[in-house]
Amino acid sequence: MREARRQPLRLKYVPQRTCIACRQTGAQRGLIRLVRIDQEQVEVDLTERRAGRGAYLCPTQDCWEMGLKKDRLEYALRTKISPQNRRQLAEFGQSLPRRASDVVECLSSTSGS
Ligand SMILES: [Zn+2]
Repeated sequence: MREARRQPLRLKYVPQRTCIACRQTGAQRGLIRLVRIDQEQVEVDLTERRAGRGAYLCPTQDCWEMGLKKDRLEYALRTKISPQNRRQLAEFGQSLPRRASDVVECLSSTSGS
């Protein structure tokens, strides 16, 4: 017999970070924050302390490309990203690992019931 244990409701607020490209929540994945510091300037915020509207992306090239190409970043930050700014962000994305496989390994290896 399986006894499903009810998890107690947590009232504590846990910030939910969702990758704007793949829509996965990334509590353990180390999502990278992007912040709109100006009307037309978006920067990578590795300290996660900068003020401004923020959005998150997985630390993978796939998600960065998707986020930039499909204008999801612009939508999430409610801004227009200049081509130059976009190139800067794309360059940062290129320095990341290609896929999420090495990042999510610990999550996908969770065995079913
Ligand atoms: Zn993602």
